[in-house]
Amino acid sequence: MACVFCAIVERQAPARIEYEDDQVVAFQDIHPVAPVHVLIVPRRHIETLNEVTPEDISTLGRCLYVARQLARAKGTDERGYRVVLNVRALAGQSVYHVHFHLLGGRPFRWPPG
Ligand code: 5GP
Ligand code: ZN
Repeated sequence: MACVFCAIVERQAPARIEYEDDQVVAFQDIHPVAPVHVLIVPRRHIETLNEVTPEDISTLGRCLYVARQLARAKGTDERGYRVVLNVRALAGQSVYHVHFHLLGGRPFRWPPG
């Protein structure tokens, strides 16, 4: 399968799944850059935020709600955390299946690098 996140969604590739429902899957990043680093993806293959359609709006909102729930489950919601969505080359997107990064457990600088 060409898309690694589709493979994870379809359980064709291994991942540490943190949450799943009929629209969204969340799993641990294979190369974490913070103590909490979970990726939250729509089941539907959408390459980037640029390809999102109005039909995806509720799914993307659900992704954010899952991020919030996982932040609480991992004990980082009160102290703070960051949710990141990289879009295409200049932002450093490396997997072309829309995903939110939930990052927590350490301080984050602003502006980002
Ligand atoms: P991007 O740079 O596209 O915003 O983020 C892609 C993320 O996917 C990276 O943080 C990278 O570590 C993660 N990643 C890439 N391949 C895999 C994989 O096969 N499994 C998991 N769990 N994470 C992956
Ligand atoms: Zn995909």
